[in-house]
Amino acid sequence: MAEGWISEFKQGICDPIDMEKRQWVTHEELKVLEGLREQFDFRVPARFFDEIGQNNVSLTRQFVPSAEELNFDESELRDPIGDQNWSPVEGIVHRYPDRVLLMPTYVCASYCRFCFRRYKVSDASQNLKADALSAALEYIKVHQGIREVILTGGDPLTLSDSRLLKIAAKIRQIPHVELLRIHTRIPTTLPSRITATLIAALKSCGKAVWLVAHVNAADELNTLSQGAFTRLVDAGIPLLSQTVLLKGINDSTDQLMSLFQALVRLRVKPYYLHYPDLAQGTHHFRIPLERAIEIYGSLRGQLSGFAIPEFVVDIPGGQGKISVDVNRAKQISAETWEFQSPLTGKLTRVTYPILTEIS
Ligand SMILES: *Cc1c(COP(=O)(O)O)cnc(C)c1O
Ligand code: SF4
Repeated sequence: MAEGWISEFKQGICDPIDMEKRQWVTHEELKVLEGLREQFDFRVPARFFDEIGQNNVSLTRQFVPSAEELNFDESELRDPIGDQNWSPVEGIVHRYPDRVLLMPTYVCASYCRFCFRRYKVSDASQNLKADALSAALEYIKVHQGIREVILTGGDPLTLSDSRLLKIAAKIRQIPHVELLRIHTRIPTTLPSRITATLIAALKSCGKAVWLVAHVNAADELNTLSQGAFTRLVDAGIPLLSQTVLLKGINDSTDQLMSLFQALVRLRVKPYYLHYPDLAQGTHHFRIPLERAIEIYGSLRGQLSGFAIPEFVVDIPGGQGKISVDVNRAKQISAETWEFQSPLTGKLTRVTYPILTEIS
């Protein structure tokens, strides 16, 4: 019998006709969606909706396809963060000297409509074949400056335990790799995947394993996903989260506060809040960056410091992630600065004298 998580995975809704049955899309939309499907695949995590509510807008907007995706803005790019410019061998993106992305699969348990890698995800034929995977691991082995391997994709946790065990065994043999990081959407959308066997497989690499869970709304944290987080943290795996700032889903101070408060209650440290990349057909998910910074800035002072992630923009073309924030420190002169209080908005000038050292 297939494991529980596999049958749950297979319940994902991929056909617009089934979406119409659930009244997520209208009959008129079906034709348009069939066309869209040729470019970007669909998979709505059905079980997740059954538990959280069929018509929860923060979920339907994230996963149910819409005709708006056909409106490509000319600013939008196929490969918005320039993965291809930094890919020395298939399945590897090596943009920063000390860490690489390793993408063994492009399959996910659900397809987010705003995905920055949407041109590539869902295509199982693009999954790394055995020799390509060996070549990718060989690349990591010969580049001694690589301290961290980041498993991503696609969602690496859609791989079977045995495939993950094989990758972990190879990584174990590379002495200069110190960290294994896993980026995944699965703890919320397919929590039954987080089994004791999976956790053991991840830890078998003998490196420090960190997991970054993609979570966008407090509503995603129901009893089942809470259980998945608890199992991971109790097993000693440090958990971080990443969130995409999405119009109509979490673009308010209150929504972000509830999400980050819920995450830290589950012992998950919010790591990054991403401004949505310029992926094709995702225009309807972006709010102006100026407004985004304002919302993000409003969190400071209202939440425990460690509950606030870094707000980042990935510079198109693969130029790297940068942190953006309300600028509350302005230099007035060599020694004098003007600071703005996040609590009251009040401006305070402070002089830090630069004393010449007496030798
Ligand atoms: C985001 C990203 C990383 C990881 O960056 P961190 O700031 O360490 O989380 C690594 N490589 C690539 C290509 C990335 O896009
Ligand atoms: S889980 Fe990640 S890779 Fe998969 S569709 Fe969503 S954003 Fe893209």
